[in-house]
Formats: sequence, C-alpha cells, structure tokens
Amino acid sequence: MKRITIAIDGFSSCGKSTLAKQLAHHLHYTYIDSGAMYRAIALYVIENGLVTDGVLNKVALLRVLGHIHIGFKHDDATQRSETWLDGRNVEHRIREMDVSHHVTLVSPIPEVRAKLVQLQQEVGQGGGVVMDGRDIGTVVFPNAEIKFFMTASPEIRAQRRYLELKGRGADITIEEVMANIERRDLDDTTRAADPLTQAPDAFVIDNTHLTSSEQFDLALGEVVRAIGVVTQA
Ligand code: C5P
Repeated sequence: MKRITIAIDGFSSCGKSTLAKQLAHHLHYTYIDSGAMYRAIALYVIENGLVTDGVLNKVALLRVLGHIHIGFKHDDATQRSETWLDGRNVEHRIREMDVSHHVTLVSPIPEVRAKLVQLQQEVGQGGGVVMDGRDIGTVVFPNAEIKFFMTASPEIRAQRRYLELKGRGADITIEEVMANIERRDLDDTTRAADPLTQAPDAFVIDNTHLTSSEQFDLALGEVVRAIGVVTQA
C-alpha cells in the first residue's frame, strides 16, 4: 500500500500530537513533531544566554545556527521518538513553560525556519510520515496527500494543557497557560514568515466537543477515503 504524507496543522495545544501519534501508530508510520525542533532552538537560546530581558540576540543566534544539531532518536523503552539537542536528550525539558514562553522569539526568524523546514523535509521524504506543526500542509509538504487543520476553543485547550502540565508536576496556574496559548496563537498567525494558515485543501477538525477516540475515527475515515482500507495495528 502506498505510504503517504499526512500533515497536521493547527493552533497551540489543540491535540495535534495526540492525533498524529494515534495515526502514526495505527498506520505504522513515523510521527514527527516539528514544534519540538522550534522548542529545541528556544532551549538553546535560553541555555546559551542569548536572551536578555525578553530580547533575543538574533545576530548571535544566526552566527551559531548552522552548528546547532537537532535530531530525533527512537526510545525502545517508551516506544517514542525523542528530541535531542547537541547530543543531549531534551524531550522533557523542551515541554517546560520557560521554553513555551521563548519559542515565539525564535520561530518567526526566516533563517531558523529555513533550517528546520529543510530538516523536516529530509526526515519526511519518502512518505509514511505524520508530521504536525503550523506550516506543514502549506510550506513543508504542500503536496501532502492528507492535510488536517485542527482547532478547539481556547478555554478547552488551556484546560487540557494545564492538566497535562500539572500531571507532570509543573507549578503553574491555568491563567498562565491560557495567556501563553493566546500569545502563541497571535504570534503564530501574524508573523511574516510561514504564518499559521489553513491550507485550502485541509480537512478541518474542531475537537472542542470530541473525545480523542472520536477525533481519531473521524481522521481515520479521511485516511481510508484517501488510500483505501487500512489494517488494524
Ligand atoms: O507544536 P508546539 O506548540 O510544540 O510548537 C511550539 C512553537 O513552535 C509554536 O508556538 C510555533 O511558534 C512554533 N512552530 C512553528 N512551526 C511549526 C511548528 C511549531 O512555527 N511547524
């Protein structure tokens, strides 16, 4: 059976990675989290003192950008692909709130995007991938066979994200999570380079009132329509 490319775009914290992982598992495809790459660059600028009082030293970042190494390694114990930055596993660290606060300092920079889009195209070439992000169906894989555009109400998104972060022991308030989601939605939709937009051929999923299994069934229906019956994992 043809191994296709599935692009999932949408707002922050609306369940893109949950759906992407479910589809990848079911289809025996590779899941690629493009947001993790932007988060890894954000972690780099934090750890290397390139941000002062909320202002990024862009010149310094551009000087070292070519030497920053981001990769993914499959962890056999968790059965997950984990993000590595310069030889170190940063999968959990990049989910922390300070990284979420800094990521939209780096994601609008065209040179950062060019580097990461190239990496995403390399790891996704040949198909058999589900990739989620903001510009996957519009910029990274404009010819993806299936594109989903996901959304949900900001309140529901904040609630889900808050519970997820709390579950990992984070010291955080729901107001802080909500403010970060609203900030990133605004930054991601209004930046000049590759802003978040809905591809005209995307299938829209608003999961405000959907469970994750309802959402999965809906998405799988689209996949079946596009590539025919798929066997159960
Ligand atoms: O998907 P996630 O919320 O982890 O992404 C973190 C940030 O990375 C987003 O808010 C956005 O600024 C950036 N991003 C992007 N393009 C992508 C994926 C993520 O600009 N394809």
